[in-house]
Amino acid sequence: MEFVHESPPMRVVLRPGSSVTAVPGEAERLGLRRVLVVCGPRGAETARAVAAALGDACARLHAEARMHVPVEVADRAVEVARATGADGCVAVGGGSAIGLGKAIALRTGLPLIAVPTTYAGSEMTPVWGLTEHGAKRTGRDPSVLPRSVVYDPELTLTLPVALSVTSGINALAHAAEALYAPDASPLVSLTAEEGVRAMAGALPALAADPGDLEARGRALYAAWLCGAALGATTMGLHHKLCHVLGGTFGLPHAETHTVVLPYVLAHNAPAAPTALTALGRALDADDAPYALWELSSRLGAPRSLAELGLKEADLAVAAGEVAGQAYPNPRKVTAQGVREILRAAYEGDPPPPTYRPNQTER
Ligand code: NAD
Repeated sequence: MEFVHESPPMRVVLRPGSSVTAVPGEAERLGLRRVLVVCGPRGAETARAVAAALGDACARLHAEARMHVPVEVADRAVEVARATGADGCVAVGGGSAIGLGKAIALRTGLPLIAVPTTYAGSEMTPVWGLTEHGAKRTGRDPSVLPRSVVYDPELTLTLPVALSVTSGINALAHAAEALYAPDASPLVSLTAEEGVRAMAGALPALAADPGDLEARGRALYAAWLCGAALGATTMGLHHKLCHVLGGTFGLPHAETHTVVLPYVLAHNAPAAPTALTALGRALDADDAPYALWELSSRLGAPRSLAELGLKEADLAVAAGEVAGQAYPNPRKVTAQGVREILRAAYEGDPPPPTYRPNQTER
């Protein structure tokens, strides 16, 4: 056995009500007296409650986060942080709000506290992203890693079931690719497998009863694990494909991950038997890609890239772009292979069966 493992220096709190009861204490532990609270326009009400709980320790609420962190939005937020003399930042919301918090941390060095309200997992990674002239740049920098993450299941009660399901499967995609990442460690693999198990259990429960606080807590617990697996490893073909489909063709983030994942996993299966076995254990299924396809279909998620608005003519363009880049993947990436994955995802039929020794008929 051989591995390298590094645990990020970060505190994690998960408790119902913690966005209000724990954030002031987390700010105090970091010695912060004037934080800038950032969120998206739709998350302003929630963020206002966090700002109120911070009292005098809140310098300003800045509700201007936007999807994929446009550079002008980041510039403006950095200006506000400087003008208010902020000594830290609290980002409340999904990946977009946390992305803005990271952009502020990157430019100013201010410490970041993240209060996630989706399952996207950005809070657990040192990866930042900025969009300029339609192109998204990303990078890794330890300064953007939140010092503290506060998961409050109550904040996710308003997350619509459709978005909860696709965001949850977006989290599963992180764990799935971490299981075959070249830089995974035994601890990351355990984390990823448990993340898949917890999320696959939580999603049907919260779809049946979106107000089920216990299921909401399980989903955030799973999002934490899947996000930690993402932060610790280098993602492969699935993430690259979704990045291109989102960046070049404007497809929606979580929905695209949900549609594409089963097909990439079925494609990679022959080259990643250990990862597929772990996924099968976590999903209690012989054929993990099919089980994921069935889970998202059963929970009403979109099935095909056609449904998400991709045009047939875009398939070849996307395949060329994805195959032309370098990233780790257990199976060699070829333009033909990517075209087959994209064609299947475009149509939305069940993924091809994957081989496992004890596989049962379906
Ligand atoms: P998002 O933050 O844009 O949220 C999606 C929608 O859900 C928004 O309209 C938002 O207002 C709404 N929403 C969020 N929480 C809600 C709640 N509790 N109740 C009701 N509505 C709510 O999207 P996302 O899927 O959370 O994140 C996607 C973004 O994050 C992408 O830009 C992606 O690239 C980025 N991301 C980055 C990393 C990283 O490591 N840097 C990791 C994962 C995702």
